[in-house]
Amino acid sequence: MDKNMQGKIVKGISGFYYVHVAGSGIYECKAKGIFRQQKMKPLVGDDVEIDIISEEKKTGNVAAILPRKNALIRPAVANVDQALVIFAVRQPDPNYQLLDRFLITMEQQEIPSIICFNKKDLAEQEELDQMYQIYISCGYQVLLTSAEQEEGISQIRKILEGKTTVVAGPSGVGKSSLTNLLQEEVSMETGEISKKLKRGRHTTRHAQLLTVGEHTYLMDTPGFSSLFVEGMEKEELRFHYPEFAEYEGKCRFQGCVHVHEPECAVKQAVESGKIHRQRYKNYVSFYEELKEQEKRRY
Ligand code: GDP
Ligand code: ZN
Repeated sequence: MDKNMQGKIVKGISGFYYVHVAGSGIYECKAKGIFRQQKMKPLVGDDVEIDIISEEKKTGNVAAILPRKNALIRPAVANVDQALVIFAVRQPDPNYQLLDRFLITMEQQEIPSIICFNKKDLAEQEELDQMYQIYISCGYQVLLTSAEQEEGISQIRKILEGKTTVVAGPSGVGKSSLTNLLQEEVSMETGEISKKLKRGRHTTRHAQLLTVGEHTYLMDTPGFSSLFVEGMEKEELRFHYPEFAEYEGKCRFQGCVHVHEPECAVKQAVESGKIHRQRYKNYVSFYEELKEQEKRRY
């Protein structure tokens, strides 16, 4: 008897799609006919309907891909709700340029970012407050955690609950340590999932979602350092700085890009300390970078 179920693709490898069905586990599926019917290739993160072939062997066929909310290219993943970007407060010191680049990339794709500063055990409170303040004042959610001392973990868990989250950050900041802590409390069901997904581990690295709760998924993004503001008009950049929004249209010149223009409301806000100078400095350097790119294009 055919049984229809809904789940999420957590991994795709050589023609097989691994579909996690909350409460039932992982099914190894083929996607026969999908391309012909829907003219699309299933992506990790896709919510799908599957026909069960064998409940015992946990096999099935992807019968339909449900409408996508969004799709990222690098990593290739669909239906991303948010991004968790992790930096360390020390060892390595945060690279704010890289952090801002990442935030811009996510803003461009309309994906909300949450910033996590890990290794808070390595810095003084005053320093932590400063880091926190820079990004809180831009409107971002900011977490201070310590994987080492298991602090702030429940806070992260709460933010991830029920969502698909892309996790990013340079290496050495504690991504694996945090992810392991998040997985510790996961039910037996996930143990079984892990076993199943470990097959094929030795092949090249594929995009894969980790299940950290019934409807809670994480995706690790390798190649973070390759992130770059690409294919963006320099005039668009300012719209990806949430803290600029309230000043937009208040400058003397219409279409002010807040770089060289006089009587600029954004520059005034930087002077009065309402916009963080470091964020603004990075803005100007990204702007110049995009300008250079543009010159090379023409
Ligand atoms: P990843 O490369 O981002 O996955 O980072 P890892 O999780 O492998 O951690 C890199 C190093 O930082 C390891 O030696 C961890 O033990 C250490 N580490 C991770 N989290 C913390 C933390 O909160 N505090 C301190 N002091 N060290 C940490
Ligand atoms: Zn301006």
